[in-house]
Amino acid sequence: MSSHALPIADLPTGLYIGGQWRDASDGERIEVLDPATDEVLADVASGSPDDGRAAVDAAAAAADSWAATPPRARGEILRRSYELMIAHRDALAELIALEGGKSRRDAEGEVTYAAEFYRWFAEEAVRGAGHVQHAPGGDKRILTVLQPVGVSVLITPWNFPAAMATRKIGPALAAGCTVVLKPASETPLTALAIAHLMEQAGAPAGVVNVVTARHPGPVVEAMLEHPATRKLSFTGSTEVGRLLLRQAADKVLNCSMELGGNAPFLVFADADIEAAVDGAMVAKMRNAGESCIAANRFLVEEAVAEEFTSRLAERMAALKVGPGTDPDNEVGPMITATARDDIAQMVEASIGSGAKALVGGGPRQGVGSFFEPTVLGDVSADDPILTQEIFGPVAPVVTFASEEEAVRVANDTPFGLAAYVYSGDLARALRVAERVDAGMVGVNRGFISDPAAPFGGVKQSGLGREGGHEGLLEFLEAKYIAVDWEA
Ligand code: NAD
Repeated sequence: MSSHALPIADLPTGLYIGGQWRDASDGERIEVLDPATDEVLADVASGSPDDGRAAVDAAAAAADSWAATPPRARGEILRRSYELMIAHRDALAELIALEGGKSRRDAEGEVTYAAEFYRWFAEEAVRGAGHVQHAPGGDKRILTVLQPVGVSVLITPWNFPAAMATRKIGPALAAGCTVVLKPASETPLTALAIAHLMEQAGAPAGVVNVVTARHPGPVVEAMLEHPATRKLSFTGSTEVGRLLLRQAADKVLNCSMELGGNAPFLVFADADIEAAVDGAMVAKMRNAGESCIAANRFLVEEAVAEEFTSRLAERMAALKVGPGTDPDNEVGPMITATARDDIAQMVEASIGSGAKALVGGGPRQGVGSFFEPTVLGDVSADDPILTQEIFGPVAPVVTFASEEEAVRVANDTPFGLAAYVYSGDLARALRVAERVDAGMVGVNRGFISDPAAPFGGVKQSGLGREGGHEGLLEFLEAKYIAVDWEA
């Protein structure tokens, strides 16, 4: 795959199992669409439950030798994968823009972010340290060693097709686990391209397997029921996460869950409003709002609500909407027509119950699943749009009168992934950051993602963390060895 050629032309489109690219056992294929034009871009193999089992077999066959591979050698494969991803940044970004509809700038940002997980976990591979201690009673030593959890099934969403894959594959491989990746059926090409690059980086056969599937339910079920599977790491909606947790319960699988969000974006009257609007544009509009940490509800103190909202509306109105493949466009299409229509329904209902569209307010007419960047004012406190994950370029604004009320409203949700706080009073910002129910808080910042930081949620936004040192620990298990070497 060259950085300059149209990437799709050279991409393998089969299942990647045990180091071989192969067709699905029943010959099924998935059509991959460009959401900007509704045209078919390519088709890829659609794995069956038998293929899912074969992939777990391959991961199990490679597990012992991979776990025994020196951490430094595992890290070097990740490091080479990082370098290859960066060398192919243009081609990968084009692929993400094509199949995911992401703007070119966001797609390039995602490739860098995704590759950085490999660089980070190449470095973390050598840090899976255990410890030794004297037992309090003095009768023995307590040795705690960290061992790979084992064969891991990794399931990823379409909204960050590269980064969600590397955020799981990186720590799994660093920890000594072999994996089967099941990417979203909307964006399988990016995952196949990453596996292709990892093959070139020297990942041994069976260490990384990829099964694309049009009907994920039975394939994932077959993989979770396989006796060799030890872990499930899932990123996607809370609804599917809940279902998979139930399935995983049968075998008491180790689970990490990165689920949906409903991030509040709090602006206090003492904030730098210009900076808050800049931050709001990033927190809301990265990936056209199709992000789990996207600001979903803007809570603004009454005294500055009008100023903040009108400036936000100006900035949203100025955004260029169009296919991600044109580098001038800032907002690409929604992933599917259904996703666009769901957003349209939420916005219509909100307007129907009294909200005002200060800019945008509906889908863009014509080809592709585009939605106009939208700011909704006069949103009532009980509007359902505030309780749902919008997953699109829509910013509802509500006001608050006190810090107490801001925290109460921010926490009035079953989700708890990200939150954002803007205030010129750092003590207040940190106080609110501590009180808000979220796994991650941006203080006077709209951009928080970093491979070196622990990413994850509380409440129904998930279990566990990805990235940081914590991300490595998700793929390691402590074993306690009791020993008395003075006996
Ligand atoms: P989704 O839950 O529909 O799908 C996620 C993955 O699960 C895909 O690979 C899909 O094919 C698979 N899947 C769907 N149904 C399944 C089933 N019955 N059994 C097994 N697998 C199944 O989510 P999506 O629409 O792809 O992604 C959007 C969601 O992901 C949003 O809710 C977003 O907040 C969330 N997300 C969370 C994070 C995070 O880190 N917390 C990051 C990105 C996206």
